[in-house]
This record gives sequence, structure tokens and C-alpha cells, in this order.
Amino acid sequence: MTDTADYEWPTCVACSRELRHDELGRIACRLCQRRTDENLQALAGDTGLYATLQDALQPGRAGDDGRVSGSRTAPLPLRLEPLSLSARGGVVTVLQTWLADWHELLGWRHPRWEGGLQQQLDQVVKALRVNLEWAASSHPAFAEFSAEVASLTRACRAQTTGERPERRITVACPCGGTLRITISTPGARCPGCGAQYGRADVLELPLAERRMAA
Ligand SMILES: [Zn+2]
Ligand SMILES: [Zn+2]
Repeated sequence: MTDTADYEWPTCVACSRELRHDELGRIACRLCQRRTDENLQALAGDTGLYATLQDALQPGRAGDDGRVSGSRTAPLPLRLEPLSLSARGGVVTVLQTWLADWHELLGWRHPRWEGGLQQQLDQVVKALRVNLEWAASSHPAFAEFSAEVASLTRACRAQTTGERPERRITVACPCGGTLRITISTPGARCPGCGAQYGRADVLELPLAERRMAA
């Protein structure tokens, strides 16, 4: 049927796969709906990705040598990504914006947000999941929605599980040497002077100048 010149078999807006017979009339295929539902589900709850971000926001939490972070150098900007995801304007706000859009399309009154950010996250995820069947069937922008949910989930996961390689930064040893480290490094040895740094110590080293970065 696809080779009929004047007729194109309908495809899923999200993955471009041809819709199955029992999916005809829908905006997106059921696979894309399920994938999006799984992503939403992964974000919510006490052990969800969003809650786990809070842990990622606390530097040195994994260090157990009892050292308190000093203030002799400016804090490393390691935490910006988890922060921008978990703060207002991050995951919660993006999802709330979509829910408000759905309410508008459905002719419902604007949704209300209650409680702290985690509570709001759980609420908005629940509401989106309840209405996901409608959205995947009828919402013209479902492709954008599912892509955005996927990228939020991916970003949170990258921050919380190290599923993707962690961002590396370059810090400077007093000897002038530089060390490439990640936030979860257990420690590192300076290739310049051979000094061995524990986790807490290496995270206190100042960021190297950009020109020194590898
Ligand atoms: Zn699809
Ligand atoms: Zn050194």
C-alpha cells in the first residue's frame, strides 16, 4: 500500500514508523507511547531519577574521610548540571509547561501545583501518565513532548547513575601539573610531581586555566 503514488501510509510522528492497523488514527505508535511512559515513570517517586539528583547535588557526599570542604578556592562548577535539572525551570517546570498545554487543548482549567518540587514532580508525572493515551493519540506535538521527556530522562540518568561517561574537568596541582578528573574519582596522582590526592583533596584543587586543559 505504501507504493501507491497518491497515498502515504500514516506514520508515527515520533519515530516515523508506519502505524499498524490498530494504531490508525493515532498521532504516535504505541511503542513510542510506552517508551515515553517508562521515561516519565523513571523520573518520579522517592527512588526515581529526580529524587536521586538531590544526592548528586551534594559534593563530597561519597567521601568518608571526614574532611570538610575548604573555602580557599572557589567551589568547582561541578554541580551546575544537576542543579539546573532539579531547580525550578528544570525538569519540573518543563513537565508542568506540557501539562498546562494539554489542559488548554482539552479545555480544562489550568493545573495547580502544590508542595515542594519533588511533590510537584510526582504530581505532574502522574497527571501526564494518566493522559498519555490521549496525548499519543491526539496531541499534534507528541513527537516534541516524547523527545523532551527522553532527553530530560537521559540527562538525569547521566548525572545520577554514570551510565554515560561523566564530564571530565581539569584541575591544577600547585606544581603546575594538571589532573583530569571526574566528580566520582576516588583519587588521582599528579603526573607532574607524583603527588597522590585523595578524593576530597583532588576536588579541592582549583580548576586549571582553559589553555591548560587537555
Ligand atoms: Zn513511534
Ligand atoms: Zn603536581
